[in-house]
Amino acid sequence: MPCSTCTRVSPTAISATSSSSRTVLRILPFRSPRGPYGRGLCLPGSIRCTAEVVDAAMHAPKPPEPKPRVLVAGGGIGGLTFALAARRKGFQVLVLEKDMSAVRGEGKYRGPIQLQSNALAVLEAVDMPAADQIMDAGCITGDRVNGIVDGISGSWYIKFDTFTPAADRGLPVTRVISRMTLQQILARAVGDDAIMNDCHVVDFTDDGNKVTAILEDGRKFEGDLLVGADGIWSKVRKSLFGETDASYSEYTCYTGIADFVPPDIDTVGYAAQILE
Ligand SMILES: Cc1cc2nc3c(=O)[nH]c(=O)nc-3n(C[C@H](O)[C@H](O)[C@H](O)COP(=O)(O)OP(=O)(O)OC[C@H]3O[C@@H](n4cnc5c(N)ncnc54)[C@H](O)[C@@H]3O)c2cc1C
Repeated sequence: MPCSTCTRVSPTAISATSSSSRTVLRILPFRSPRGPYGRGLCLPGSIRCTAEVVDAAMHAPKPPEPKPRVLVAGGGIGGLTFALAARRKGFQVLVLEKDMSAVRGEGKYRGPIQLQSNALAVLEAVDMPAADQIMDAGCITGDRVNGIVDGISGSWYIKFDTFTPAADRGLPVTRVISRMTLQQILARAVGDDAIMNDCHVVDFTDDGNKVTAILEDGRKFEGDLLVGADGIWSKVRKSLFGETDASYSEYTCYTGIADFVPPDIDTVGYAAQILE
């Protein structure tokens, strides 16, 4: 189907004359980056349809495919960190959190959490401005004595040196931060538009192409991927692998906040006490 001038080439085989031989070019359907035509190759009427023009058009860079939409069940530390990483990589992200007060800590202090050097380095790799805020809000404990203490005698079972391994590897020094503050910084960085409250995920379906998160109130959200970050009693895990009992480690950990400044605060970061 030779053509000297054309405005549109059908996405089928056409022939075009080259200087040495007659070449058959197969124009494959491709998505036009602009214009109303969608699929197909569109050339302005004044341009001669030469093999070179067709070849250049065939090799024009394709517009990027839209990134998958990722659903995250649970906006705790894991869910928010994952959501932030995915967003920074350009994915569409929607966090479905059943109770934002768990994230914001409304009415609850929720205690502190220690962020080891490797965790801080991960946060730096994910989002440097958020990591900087976390570093600033945290209290450095990695340069003090940390370890496990006999809760009755007060003697140390073991002391952990978290400073030297971090310094050797150029990692940030271990800090302790309020869980609420940590989650607030992460949630802010992820963005309000990507976090939905009152979304209790109870199940999901997967048709092999799309996954649909099903909420307790019947609402449904469709995505390309569902990440179960809904904590220790994860409904997503239960739907995926069936009912499994958590195995008890024989350790029970209590957390709380006391209005008390220990006399060794300048030298001891934390002393986990074992009471038997
Ligand atoms: C007392 C204590 C002290 C700890 N101290 C440390 C420490 O110092 N350093 C450290 O690194 N780790 C510590 N940990 C462990 C750490 O807290 C957990 O590893 C971490 O919180 C796990 O994060 P996550 O996002 O998986 O789950 P979570 O933080 O539990 O978050 C789960 C989120 O999902 C939401 N959710 C739950 N079910 C659903 C649902 N069906 N649909 C939608 N949303 C849902 C919840 O509301 C919550 O916001 C400690 C744990 C405890 C108990």
